[in-house]
Amino acid sequence: MELPPANLAAEQCVTRMLAQAQRLGVLVRWQPLGPTTLKGAYHAKPGQPGVLELRAQVSAPATPELCSLISHEMVHVLQHWRGQLQALLPLGWPTDGAPPGRRLSVHEAEAYTAQNHPQLVLAALRQLQLPSGRGAQIQLKP
Ligand SMILES: [Zn+2]
Repeated sequence: MELPPANLAAEQCVTRMLAQAQRLGVLVRWQPLGPTTLKGAYHAKPGQPGVLELRAQVSAPATPELCSLISHEMVHVLQHWRGQLQALLPLGWPTDGAPPGRRLSVHEAEAYTAQNHPQLVLAALRQLQLPSGRGAQIQLKP
């Protein structure tokens, strides 16, 4: 699969990712940024859109790092949708962009690889249907 260039501005990236989360009913919770670096977590709940937790400064200008973080977590959202909201299923996306030296699940390897390609993630997110449309064919590849 050909990956589009990662040339989306951080501000646009974050805004569009959050808009998709809202459209899909994924709850986004911002946690105060502690002494550690940016962190994100996606809690996939069976039958529900799930909750995205971001440890970041909500008021600070969007950075490429925040864009990558949200893109990463949104890949897990895609995986949750792929699993009909019952399980996280791999998307069949490239996994060769994961940090070396770490043993990662396919899910994480896909997320690490796609996190630097927010446009790809956004394109796939736009194709997701709302949970009420569950059961319909979900197309994930652009
Ligand atoms: Zn992850």
